[in-house]
Amino acid sequence: MPDCIFCRIVKGQVPCSKVYENDRVLAFMDINPVAPGHVLVIPKAHSNDVAGMSEGDMAAVALALRKLAPAVVTAVGGEGYNILNNCGGVAGQAVEHVHFHVIPRKTGDGRGYRWVTLSYRDGEIEKLAAAIMHKL
Ligand code: 5GP
Ligand code: ZN
Repeated sequence: MPDCIFCRIVKGQVPCSKVYENDRVLAFMDINPVAPGHVLVIPKAHSNDVAGMSEGDMAAVALALRKLAPAVVTAVGGEGYNILNNCGGVAGQAVEHVHFHVIPRKTGDGRGYRWVTLSYRDGEIEKLAAAIMHKL
């Protein structure tokens, strides 16, 4: 994808602060971090979202996340981390090359993380579970 900023980073046409690379995966520092040490993990092959990733790339990214997350946290003296992926503009995706955020967290860092939660009406949870299973 010639106009994709992350494809251009993969090709070396745009600089990045690389922290990890293998044949399928690249990890680099987010240029506008949510917290110091914020890393992005991407498949080198372009895909807009998770659903478009090959099984091999998905597995490689998952393994890279497992390797990187503890390194990120210990490097910044953190205590935990968020692994986040936004798919679709409605979910906050700004760069249309699938990527996973690793954001180190510290007590009192003020970043917060709280979804607005709901309660299901009677029978609704089973109905939605069935609808999802039907789509698999
Ligand atoms: P999204 O909102 O799509 O989940 O996150 C996109 C992330 O990519 C943002 O956190 C943003 O700071 C980061 N980003 C966007 N452009 C660049 C870039 O050119 N270089 C780097 N290193 N990060 C970028
Ligand atoms: Zn791309």
